[in-house]
Amino acid sequence: MNIYGIKREDLENYFLDMNEKKFKALQVFEWLYEKKVSSFFSMTNIKKDLQEKLDRDFSFRMIKIQKKQEDKDTKKYLFKLFDDNYVEAVLMQHDYGLSVCVSSEVGCNMGCAFCESGRLKKVRNLGSYEMVQQIMLIEEDIKKRISSVVIMGIGEPLDNYDNVMDFIKIINDPKGLAIGARHITLSTCGIIPKMKELMKENLQINLAVSLHAPNTQLRDKLMPINKAYKLNDLMDTIKKYIYETNRRVTIEYIMLNDVNDNETQALELASLLKGMNVYVNLIPYNETNHIEFKRANKEKILKFYDILKKKGINVTIRREFGSNIDAACGQLRSKEVKA
Ligand code: SAH
Repeated sequence: MNIYGIKREDLENYFLDMNEKKFKALQVFEWLYEKKVSSFFSMTNIKKDLQEKLDRDFSFRMIKIQKKQEDKDTKKYLFKLFDDNYVEAVLMQHDYGLSVCVSSEVGCNMGCAFCESGRLKKVRNLGSYEMVQQIMLIEEDIKKRISSVVIMGIGEPLDNYDNVMDFIKIINDPKGLAIGARHITLSTCGIIPKMKELMKENLQINLAVSLHAPNTQLRDKLMPINKAYKLNDLMDTIKKYIYETNRRVTIEYIMLNDVNDNETQALELASLLKGMNVYVNLIPYNETNHIEFKRANKEKILKFYDILKKKGINVTIRREFGSNIDAACGQLRSKEVKA
């Protein structure tokens, strides 16, 4: 097992099972994430026989940065995994700090019509260590601390629920990567049963839901998941989520030219969201070579924004990052896989 995929709680149980004190887990975490050593034999407050046992049970092996692509305030990383699969992550410089967008799966089975990642089917889940290491390697590369994380890269995080939960707990641990829960955002296309599980976790993370359409007919065409989990039920689940967690939910809406960007659709979206504690993020579509959808033009995006605003909906237009370095979801990986 890779040590970077282990929650502190699990390491405590590991020590307790051997009749060792559970605070040893805390000591190991300090070595891993504060002092950043990469061998148990450097952990001088752990006794020799225990170092040897740990060394037999856990590995420090790291995934590798295969490629980097840079822009003014964006840096994209392609990672090579042990089995020669690839995933990507994006570093973004905001005025409030550095954030990283991580991948949660190799490929994705959700098959959204506009999405590059979904053209390549899911090969496997990522292990929690593979998600933790995306962040660690970027921190090491730039010699700076990451202050927020969005799980919006390749994959559907709620389709890899257990590993993603472990990942969140490790990066949120004050003795782990110490990223505050309110600085962690999980984005889902709307896997209802897993959203219900998530609302019981008692985490203070942010949830974003990829809606992309104001009615079920259009959503059916754009997002196959809508056939399994209907828009109506999704809206009910979001309401329940807000009620149970007392957290505002983000609604993501990519702006696709002549598909979901007209005034009627804006009004429809406003009435769908009326009275809910949500905020809408309008996302200018990142065009890709393989897919025919085009980005809505600026005037239409602004008009759409105005309509929502006038109807009392909280809305922002997402600032764009990295459209000239293939930073659209999955573009770098799909190039590499083809090569
Ligand atoms: N599977 C999750 C998270 C990964 S996708 C989800 O569906 O939310 C992250 C976000 O990027 C989603 O809102 C997705 O619809 C959107 N997206 C996918 N392709 C895009 C593109 N080319 N341009 C802009 N946003 C895109």
